[in-house]
Parts: sequence; C-alpha cells; structure tokens
Amino acid sequence: MKAVSVKKDGVGIEVTEHEAPQIKNGEALVKMEYCGVCHTDLHVANGDFGKVPGRILGHEGIGIVTKVADDVTSLKVGDRVSIAWFFKGCGYCEYCTTGRETLCRSVQNAGYSVDGGMSEYAVVVADYAVKVPERLDPAQASSVTCAGVTTYKALKEAGAAPGKTIVIYGAGGLGNLAIQYAKKVFNTIVVAVDINDDKLALAKQSGADIIINGKDVPDVPEKIQKLTGGCHGAVVTAVSKVAFNQAVESLRAGGTVVAVGLPSEYMELSIVKTVLDGIKVVGSLVGTRKDLAEAFDFAARGLVVPVVHKRPVDDAPAIFEEMEAGKINGRMVLDFTQE
Ligand SMILES: [Zn+2]
Ligand SMILES: [Zn+2]
Repeated sequence: MKAVSVKKDGVGIEVTEHEAPQIKNGEALVKMEYCGVCHTDLHVANGDFGKVPGRILGHEGIGIVTKVADDVTSLKVGDRVSIAWFFKGCGYCEYCTTGRETLCRSVQNAGYSVDGGMSEYAVVVADYAVKVPERLDPAQASSVTCAGVTTYKALKEAGAAPGKTIVIYGAGGLGNLAIQYAKKVFNTIVVAVDINDDKLALAKQSGADIIINGKDVPDVPEKIQKLTGGCHGAVVTAVSKVAFNQAVESLRAGGTVVAVGLPSEYMELSIVKTVLDGIKVVGSLVGTRKDLAEAFDFAARGLVVPVVHKRPVDDAPAIFEEMEAGKINGRMVLDFTQE
C-alpha cells in the first residue's frame, strides 16, 4: 500500500510502498479516504520533536472501517472514523480519568509515536477512534480532526458563551475556524486580529464583528479596549510573541488568555495586571474524544465549514515544500479515494 513516511535518515518525507498493517485485539483497520497535511507533520518530518525514521505521517485522517478485531464493540465495519493527533491515552492515569486525557504522560500520537493516516490503510485503537457523522463531508472532517477541535476546545477554555467578547489573534487556518466556532457555535462577539488583509477579509466573511490589522493600528489592545471594554477571552493562534503580549492587554478583569500557537519564545506577563485583574493564562492542546465528537457535530450541522483543497497523494513532497516556503493557503488534503 502507498504511504507518506519520514525518510530513512529521519529528515524529509517520501511516498513509498509499505506492507499493509495487521490488527490486534482492540483494534480496527481503516481504509483511508482523506488525510490533511498540517504544520505539525512538517515538524515531525524535520525531526523537530526527535527523529522518527520510517514513521507514516498524518493525524488528520478520515476513513472507513473495513475490519475489526473479535473483541471490538465500539466500532463496526462501515463506520467512518478519524485518526487524530491524540491517538490513545493509557486510560487509567489522573489525566485520563478526569477528562484531561490529552495530557496523559503515556499518550500516543498518530503520525509521530505511532503510524498515522497518510496511508491507504491504517490501524486505530477502536475505543479511541472518534466516529464521523454521516452528514459531514469527509474531506472537511479531516480539518476538524485537528484545527477544528483545537480551536473549539480553546474557545471552551477561554470561557466563550453567548454575549461574551472573544478576541482571536491570527486569522489563518486555525484562526478562521476559531472565528467560525466562536460566532456560530458559541454566539460570542468576535474580534479578529491579523496583519494580513486577505485573511481579515475572510474573517469578516466568516462572522467576525470587528477586524483589526495590527500593522495599521499603533496600539492594538488600546483599540480593542476602546471598542469592547475589554475581552472576556483571547485565543492566540498566531505564532508570534507580540500577539501573546497584546492578547493579555486586550482582556478585561477576570479574562482568560488561551495559548494555542507555538512560537519558541516567552510571553511577557505583567504580574501586577495578572494579580489585580485576576487574569488567567491557559495552554490548550488539541481536544479529548468528546471535544472532537462535539466539534464534528457542529460541522455536520453546517455551522462550521473548513476550507480544504484536495490533492493527489503523490503531491505530498510538493505540499511539504510549499508549506516550508509558507506558500499554503487553506488546508491541503491528500485524497486517497483516487488510489
Ligand atoms: Zn494537525
Ligand atoms: Zn493516561
């Protein structure tokens, strides 16, 4: 079977033939339909989290179950399921048993610590593979599996609720989905901040009430404070320390800033403001199985529509190059239905 994997020396990717995987107890075999290509895949391919030579990439996989082990009761042949970054937790630690399974210290991640979804066939742990609603387009579902659930969960952490004001820093792929969930699902007042006018135009189209180009405004937090009285929550998807610092200053007292983007830097946090204004700072990483099921459900109802572009599997090396060069707009999705 054809698969996209990390090269033998642990750096770069290749499309090669692999042996079809076999299932064990508790597992199911999935025939892939689509798998999205994410920046995280680029980090894995470059060995940024440690080299994983030969590893099949992909954590935005969507496919149909073609076989289940005898002991599996949670899935059946014909179910459409997802292969997400949160592939499996231990199931018994303090995090797994308290609704915080993504923090499990023995977590397995698809396309990194175990083989992922960029493959004609993939194995899932049945109880951990979240089902995809029938009404949801499978190519769009691939995007919900990562960017969708990540932003949906981050908004929960930010305290998003009807009537609250939420600022989203960064209106790219993640940010646009955050805007859609914030507006259409949580019914919040949405402020979108970016430095790219095209992305802000799309943000407006996606429901943002206020858009701000950080390049045009000398003091972004001051403007947000003036227009909104301060935000209840901020979700930072931008990979920029400046955005994190501005996010804190955009909050009202009691507000929460949620870190999603991953710049390798430190944010500045005024201790006085944090104490006097009761500011909360939270990191948020993907989402649990339940979060993903909810994120799928809202997308299936048409409230959230990811922008995806289908590409042939053989395009994978080119897509990774385009991503490295920052040339990608929207989500590239490998199409395994043509294989
Ligand atoms: Zn991803
Ligand atoms: Zn655990």
